[in-house]
Amino acid sequence: MPWLAAAVPWLAAAMPWLAASVPRLAASVPWLAASVPWPFLKTCPAEHGEAIRLGALGEAAYHRVMTASPALEGTVLRLAERLIQLLDEGSFAATYKYAVIVGLLDLSLELTSATGVPPDTITTRQLAEKVIELYWPHCAPYGEHILRQSSSGTQAEVVKRIQAFRARVPLDTAGAASLPRACALLGSEAHEELARFVEWKLVEMPLPKLQVVGSVEDRFLYEYGFPRKMDNSRPLQPYWEGEPGTFDNRLLLKPGVGAAFVALNGLLRPLVYRQWARMVARVNKLEESTLEGFLFGVDRQSLDPVRPALRELQSGRCFYCEERLSRAHHVDHFIPWSRHPDDGIHNLVVADERCNLKKRAYFAAAGHVEHWRERSRRHAADLATIARDRSWGTAPDRTLGVARAIYRALPEDARLWQGGDDLVVIERLRIVAALAA
Ligand SMILES: [Zn+2]
Repeated sequence: MPWLAAAVPWLAAAMPWLAASVPRLAASVPWLAASVPWPFLKTCPAEHGEAIRLGALGEAAYHRVMTASPALEGTVLRLAERLIQLLDEGSFAATYKYAVIVGLLDLSLELTSATGVPPDTITTRQLAEKVIELYWPHCAPYGEHILRQSSSGTQAEVVKRIQAFRARVPLDTAGAASLPRACALLGSEAHEELARFVEWKLVEMPLPKLQVVGSVEDRFLYEYGFPRKMDNSRPLQPYWEGEPGTFDNRLLLKPGVGAAFVALNGLLRPLVYRQWARMVARVNKLEESTLEGFLFGVDRQSLDPVRPALRELQSGRCFYCEERLSRAHHVDHFIPWSRHPDDGIHNLVVADERCNLKKRAYFAAAGHVEHWRERSRRHAADLATIARDRSWGTAPDRTLGVARAIYRALPEDARLWQGGDDLVVIERLRIVAALAA
């Protein structure tokens, strides 16, 4: 997209152009416009008569670009353009590139502070833990086989190791093996060993390679202090043993990159998922259409094990409308799965069928946010018990960080789901206050 690269320096100063450039960006990349699968799509007319469909968060990102400070606007556009270039580059034999980008995206949301500031540093260890989480569901059999994540003929090393770890865990009664359950059963030492291996692999290859375009490295996402080529894992041994000053594990995000990731989350996430699924389909010679659901879909883990306990916690009433629950009720992701996949116990509420279907992928309105925070506070011990008894994932700080980041990134006129068919304009102050505590 040479036109965009050339346009970026003065784009930030030219608002009409800026307003048009997100749709133009999408229109210029054929798969981009087709990659936003949300059910309620909106047509955004652009200056030159092009129209592309943006999903609800795509819309948020679009407004964010239009209303944010010029410095952020410039960063957002530059980052979007570079990332799209990166997604198209074919120099990675494995899917690591996608895992690292989604990892940085997730961590930018999860590590957002109480005052809404995205992180400026992410450690290689945090990224390693995230990469394990991302590949975990991919290591379940697809049909009879585990999907290959590398075009080299053998399985990608990181995935092979996660697969081996997973294979040691007996399946639960529902035939599943969750990561928290595996960690509980196999112990912290086994998990530590896996995390170290993945951390080393990231340091060895994708992290120094990610920002290389052609043969030149341009650190537009993060700076790092380790050498681009390390011969073996020995250099990390003293660091793992806690010797200070032996290895700098920080990825220092470039100014504005954390905020740009938050702003672009709704647009970037489906794009990376789509490209990732496409590569997995290609190397496994499969149809792409069903693969994306398997790799990233909401149904990849059954929520049934926690449903009765959550129902009891809510005294048998729908979380949203407080009507008594009938037989048909569902576990709902408070922060919608499509915006940030989080099965952690704090993100789950029980809703009747009507509310669950009406809320879909909307964000809940201020009253629900207050109610949700109140539940997390008042029932902190109960939620911890539910998670512990079922070896269920729980990361209250991360779940809260994501809510803070996502709600703050919504535009002033964002519509939130109140109940039934009612959408209301965001009450930002109420929501910020509820999420600050
Ligand atoms: Zn309801």
